Amino acid sequence: MVIILKKEADRSQVDNLVNLLKTKNIQPNISEGSLQTVIGCVGDVTHIDPGLIEAMDIVERVQRVQEPYKAASRKFHPDDSVIDCSGVKVGAGNFAVIAGPCSVESEEQVVAVAKAVKAAGATMLRGGAFKPRTSPYAFQGMGAEGLRLLSLAKKETGLPIVTELMDFKDFELFNDVDVIQIGARNMQNFNLLKEVGSATKKPILLKRGMSATIQELLMSAEYIMASGNPNVILCERGIRTFETAMRNTLDLGVVTYIHRYSHLPVMVDPSHATGHAWMVDSIACAATAIGADGLIIEVHNNPPCAKCDGAQSQTPEMFAATMEKISKIRKTI
Ligand code: PEP
Ligand code: MN
Repeated sequence: MVIILKKEADRSQVDNLVNLLKTKNIQPNISEGSLQTVIGCVGDVTHIDPGLIEAMDIVERVQRVQEPYKAASRKFHPDDSVIDCSGVKVGAGNFAVIAGPCSVESEEQVVAVAKAVKAAGATMLRGGAFKPRTSPYAFQGMGAEGLRLLSLAKKETGLPIVTELMDFKDFELFNDVDVIQIGARNMQNFNLLKEVGSATKKPILLKRGMSATIQELLMSAEYIMASGNPNVILCERGIRTFETAMRNTLDLGVVTYIHRYSHLPVMVDPSHATGHAWMVDSIACAATAIGADGLIIEVHNNPPCAKCDGAQSQTPEMFAATMEKISKIRKTI
């Protein structure tokens, strides 16, 4: 962090600021120029609010030179993190494919889809039991019963299960869940992030909010990590833009960008990114080619009758074809 002082800064006030920084374990390096005086702050500035410093009379402006996230930063953790999802590893070259229906609808449906995606090579099963729906009149998910059916599908296939937690009051029901998803709509539900961060070390699949910047996504990961859970997998699933042809606008550059600044794995969700089942295959291939650490793909055995997100759900046959291509791309890269 660099503090740029006003020209007329009073000396005793500058001394006060320097002392204040020292009490916060920051080493202030003052450079006095003929036009401007700046203070370079060396040390951990994550706990310092630049806004408070900027509010001081003598300060012209404050510039951050370091990212505000620390636990999520590659600077403090140079090696890629490998997140262990009940035996399925994600990150540092370990590629995972999470597949399954948007929501759990019945035992027949979830078990059939689980078997089909496993046969095609998926490494984890997804399925929503608690669904964040835009309309209160839409299917809200099966709740606890949905979790029970997911457990059955896990027993049948051995696939670890991934499902969304919307409200911490339901956490006690998530004992058999292997990866807890925090969805786009809750990415900045800071209380929920702190709660899952302190309550569990289970992997958290954190999806990018619909209008969240990359930095905001990483700060949300930071919330979970700073609360005690280092096992975070990020997920790019597209953001809201002026474009309406697709459900969201996918930014694959996020994968490359985050890999530079963070050690956390980044998965891509081509289903919610596009909203069209016919687009999922090519976007999944592109995400794989760009170096994503995995994919999360919606698959339904009867998409036209799906209770949620049928239009973007691949059939098991489509999914199997995508998996074949992904495997070839993985071998090539
Ligand atoms: C989902 O994965 O079913 C979901 C609701 O995703 P998102 O939070 O990315 O919209
Ligand atoms: Mn969905």
